[in-house]
Amino acid sequence: MPASVDRIRILDPSVADRIAAGEVVERPASVVKELVENSLDAGAGRIVVEVAGAGLDLIRVADDGCGIHPEDVPLAVRRFATSKIATTEDLQEVRSFGFRGEALPSIAAVSLLELVSAVPGEPAGRRLRVRGGEVELDEPVGAPPGTVVTVRHLFFNTPARRKFLKSPAREFALIVDAVDRLALAAPQVAFSLIHAGAEVLRYPPADPPDRLAAVVGRDAAGRMLPVDDRSGGIRVWGWAGRPELARTTRSLQHLCVNRRPVHSRALTAAVEEAYHQLLPASRHPAFVLFVEVPPGRVDVNVHPRKLDVRFDDERAVCAAAFRAVRAAVQRASLIPAVTAAGWGTPGPAGVSEPLDLAVPQVPAGPEAPVEVPAAGRLPALRLLGQVHRTYLLAEGPDGLVLIDQHAAHERVLYERLIERRRAGVADGQELVPPAVVRLRPPEAALLASCREALADLGCVVEDFGEDAVLVRSVPAIAARLSPDRLLAGLLADLAADRPREVEDLLERLTIATACRSAVRAGDVLTPAEMASLLADLARTRDPFTCFHGRPTLVAVPRTTLESWFLRR
Ligand code: ADP
Ligand code: MG
Repeated sequence: MPASVDRIRILDPSVADRIAAGEVVERPASVVKELVENSLDAGAGRIVVEVAGAGLDLIRVADDGCGIHPEDVPLAVRRFATSKIATTEDLQEVRSFGFRGEALPSIAAVSLLELVSAVPGEPAGRRLRVRGGEVELDEPVGAPPGTVVTVRHLFFNTPARRKFLKSPAREFALIVDAVDRLALAAPQVAFSLIHAGAEVLRYPPADPPDRLAAVVGRDAAGRMLPVDDRSGGIRVWGWAGRPELARTTRSLQHLCVNRRPVHSRALTAAVEEAYHQLLPASRHPAFVLFVEVPPGRVDVNVHPRKLDVRFDDERAVCAAAFRAVRAAVQRASLIPAVTAAGWGTPGPAGVSEPLDLAVPQVPAGPEAPVEVPAAGRLPALRLLGQVHRTYLLAEGPDGLVLIDQHAAHERVLYERLIERRRAGVADGQELVPPAVVRLRPPEAALLASCREALADLGCVVEDFGEDAVLVRSVPAIAARLSPDRLLAGLLADLAADRPREVEDLLERLTIATACRSAVRAGDVLTPAEMASLLADLARTRDPFTCFHGRPTLVAVPRTTLESWFLRR
């Protein structure tokens, strides 16, 4: 249902002066964005975007929205002429995409723009043609209700601007992205994008999940977890991608504030923080998230292209986004490629005994598979053996499961250390006699800075002369390592760790201790050791990733096996 036609007024200078100034039309995609936003503001049910020459030759946006009253058509291309706000107070409660009356005049100044619009109940519509800001043609036309804006020869009179554009393919990709972002924000509206005569996008009206699938693809949508959380007047909903959807760029991140697509560094950081330990530092999670706050609590008038917003309480909004996404990823079982529904609820985080690491020298021979019963968040597994002395191979209820023995053991030991620490037990194994370990000066300095944290983990170290320390006890899980190898390893990890990757010193040390103590790739495990590793893993809070964000398990669903063998 098109909204009724609001009339256009020139903003009072006192209001216009408060508009965030700057360049509106940076590239073809910004024209598409502004025109589609206008169509959405007009209550369109269907929007057709047509481009040629990556937008430099032609951009046409046609809608079936409320149209512009014929008397107002010439006003629409004047600066600060808008039907959407009138007063400074309105600026504080903007609900429309547009509000500053700058887009059409800015586009008309750098192109040949034609505006055709008609409203129901008027005998005729009106056509206006503007070249480089000068009106060339103004005539009545017969046209269906709605608006068609055609922009040709963009930047014809500003060659410098053209020079800053990227390749046509890249500019077109940015146009697709602009349409996708708005299509996600307005699922009830039909969109189509035509490029050089061919329809490249077609989105029928849909509910939000179907629009998500249309925009990001069914496969990616199936790997996204629903998010919905509200607190303190802030609602955060949408979808957070499973870790395996993460990319090296942020291209699969869509953020809307009150349905307006924005780029907010702070909000993005908050959402990415919710993936802490689920992703390597170099990967960015995929998400489509909608943040809704009362309009009065967000300022949309801070960026010339309306790409950023400012909140009255940014920390509260970021905290809400973090909580919502964190809850969603924690609720889900995160084995890559497996639909984990029905795999049981998170079990109690058990404190397991470490594996007995008397590593046999000979690989286990063919033996009967070991049944590992379902526990915690893992299904029953039939352990088949060890592959490349690195992965455990098991049969699950729905296909094959491969377990990275090092990553899995790291996870087990890490949670054990955390549990002990929470219980206030420094889980140390006393060395009798204490071991003397020599250190180089940089190592000694690093060690001095983390001695307390080490003691929390059960590793008690005292000064012993100029270039040595006395190790009185080591973390129990590391008892099999020689004290000097352990210390050297921990200090090397601390020195090498990119600070961003993990939170604080204690966490870094906990991770380093778990990593150094875990079985390695190449260690041969007996069937009993493998079974006990899986049982321990099942009892962890998060059995599906190690804390570096790598998966501990990967599943090959039975359907995938069947498709490999052409059985389906
Ligand atoms: P703004 O969107 O900030 O108001 P614009 O320059 O984008 O400024 O548009 C100016 C005015 O022209 C709008 O306020 C609106 O009244 C009218 N207008 C522009 N495009 C459309 C459209 N597709 N349908 C109906 N009215 C439109
Ligand atoms: Mg506008």
